[in-house]
Amino acid sequence: MTDRVNFGDELVSPEEKTRRVGRVFSSVAHRYDLMNDLMSGGMHRLWKDRFVARVKPRGSEGILDMAGGTGDVAFRMAKRGARVTVADINADMLDVGKERAERRGLTGLTWKVENAEHLSFADASFDAYTIVFGIRNVTDIPAALREAHRVLKRGGRFYCMEFSSSDWPGFSNLYEAYAANVIPKIGKAVTKDEDSYRYLVESIRRFPRPPAFKAMITDAGFVRAAAEPMLGGLVTIHSGWKI
Ligand code: SAM
Repeated sequence: MTDRVNFGDELVSPEEKTRRVGRVFSSVAHRYDLMNDLMSGGMHRLWKDRFVARVKPRGSEGILDMAGGTGDVAFRMAKRGARVTVADINADMLDVGKERAERRGLTGLTWKVENAEHLSFADASFDAYTIVFGIRNVTDIPAALREAHRVLKRGGRFYCMEFSSSDWPGFSNLYEAYAANVIPKIGKAVTKDEDSYRYLVESIRRFPRPPAFKAMITDAGFVRAAAEPMLGGLVTIHSGWKI
């Protein structure tokens, strides 16, 4: 790893980035789900439905939902019968997730604090690995992708949904204006934390475009890497297979 990495637009040490990302999600954990609805006008729900439709969880298969946060994606997969382990570096996000699962009567999920860069799971533990709006927050992304490959069984599927900047000219300008001016203000009003939402916008702008991220998935050892961009690449579902 290099000795300076981006935390949003700022260059910091890798350890500092991991610490600051931790602070961002601890700060917003209790308002995280409300903020997702407000910022996306509820669209994140449709993107997550579409994502899970792509994953096609099969009854009783083991899925690791990495950076699973408050459980949105895990709940959808568990409802389809999969045995889901929700892992996240941030215990505050997982605590909110556990409360939500309890309120919904969703039992049978496993919750675990884990850093995506160094997983405690044995090789070949899972049938599928999912990571939604999580990987751009990880300090060493290639290390996380190698770990995803390691913990998957042969024939295992990797799926990642992530934001990036869009390449639709008109839409991209509109989104940039909304992201830079409106999202931090909603963050300030709802969570009293404008900086965390400024980080969110900057981290989206900095995340690789779909072709570049597809190459990173291949470099980690996955085959048949594919990218399904939506909204001109603002949101993309990436996938790959372990053979
Ligand atoms: N997947 C959930 C969703 O879509 O609602 C949560 C996404 S939230 C934007 C990003 C999550 O990534 C946070 O819960 C954060 O704690 C987690 N995260 C950041 N860095 C991580 C790391 N190195 N390992 C595991 N989780 C990480």
